[in-house]
Amino acid sequence: MKVAIMGAGLSGLSCAITLERLGVSPTIFEKRSMVGDRFINGEAMFSIIDRPIKDNLSYISKNYNINLNATDKVTKLFIHSQKEVASINGKIGYTNIRGRHEDSYERQLEKQIKSKINFNSTYDYEDLCKDYDYVVLATGDGEYASRLGNYKCDLTCTIKGATVQGNFITSSPHVWFNYDILPKGYTWLIPFSDNEANLSIAYPDYPDNIKLDINSMWEKFYSLVCRDLGEDLTITDNFEITRYMMGICNKPKINNTYFVGNCFGSISPGLGFGQLTSILTGVYSAYDICGIGDYEELTKHLFEDYNHSIVFRRFMENLTDEQLDFHIKNLNNNIIGMISDRLCSNSCGIDILKLSTPIMRLWNYYKSKGSI
Ligand SMILES: Cc1cc2nc3c(=O)[nH]c(=O)nc-3n(C[C@H](O)[C@H](O)[C@H](O)COP(=O)(O)OP(=O)(O)OC[C@H]3O[C@@H](n4cnc5c(N)ncnc54)[C@H](O)[C@@H]3O)c2cc1C
Repeated sequence: MKVAIMGAGLSGLSCAITLERLGVSPTIFEKRSMVGDRFINGEAMFSIIDRPIKDNLSYISKNYNINLNATDKVTKLFIHSQKEVASINGKIGYTNIRGRHEDSYERQLEKQIKSKINFNSTYDYEDLCKDYDYVVLATGDGEYASRLGNYKCDLTCTIKGATVQGNFITSSPHVWFNYDILPKGYTWLIPFSDNEANLSIAYPDYPDNIKLDINSMWEKFYSLVCRDLGEDLTITDNFEITRYMMGICNKPKINNTYFVGNCFGSISPGLGFGQLTSILTGVYSAYDICGIGDYEELTKHLFEDYNHSIVFRRFMENLTDEQLDFHIKNLNNNIIGMISDRLCSNSCGIDILKLSTPIMRLWNYYKSKGSI
């Protein structure tokens, strides 16, 4: 059986690891000259987003023998709004490194495969289809799926980020919501060492936002973050991503082509997390190729998660800065804080996003008078 994997990132390499364990040696094609050949950034996984899975890293290790070392466990997530700050406490997720850092998740996965990776590949999908029995599209965006008429794009985002130096606690990332500066967007600070972190602003490309000056938003947020952290952060590297697609494929598999990772639609539009889904789609596609699972069946829950997440995004977008202040202030209430900590904990299996979807849908309906 000849299997081609296009893209040696999270989903492509997870597919390769699984295929190899099932006795199939895939041929991997990677456009770049090495695995993770892009900017270094800190990312995170939060178990509340991946319910009913509790502890996401233990889950993929126990169930699929895919082992990843995180930078740290998240034990405190700071949430900032315009006037308030609160935290969610307890073991709630993990932070990790991506890109060309030697400990990045993609580099860790590369060490778990034996198959050769063909770097600097210029192979096109159409050529791979002619030469291989199965093609796994793992190129990290929805381009191919769109080109094949198999992708529903709900929004695109602009992301501007930087590596910043300062004093950080790797178990304590921060997120800011301030729609006055960054309409309908958010800012993350995810440390990947005691003195380095990734600071990123991300906002949707809606008509009103496209007019805004990204550099001015960045400067305002950068000053705000420095103020909130009480130190001047030094920028050592930066990146910008335009039109980052958030959407999902219509069909996870067409004939012998599998859509995995962001080609599938792994990014949860709510807060932009896609790492776990990327790994799972890689594994599931390998199961289907080897005849031990049905990709359409296995990915059903991921389509549902996506739908809950898009409702969550619309809910967040419909809030005002005052309402965000109100909710975040409430987290400082002892009882509400304790309940939130429990719901977000790695040991809780309650799918609060799914449970609250009908209420958020009603709110969205009320706010937009019928568009959801
Ligand atoms: C700035 C940023 C921050 C993020 N933060 C988080 C976070 O905190 N938590 C989280 O869970 N998710 C986060 N995500 C999302 C997460 O990174 C992605 O969902 C995940 O990496 C997608 O995996 P993938 O396998 O689809 O793509 P990738 O891991 O990006 O791999 C795609 C690979 O395909 C290669 N490729 C591209 N085109 C071709 C081609 N034509 N031929 C061959 N190879 C090709 C690329 O070079 C790359 O190596 C973030 C994304 C961004 C951009």
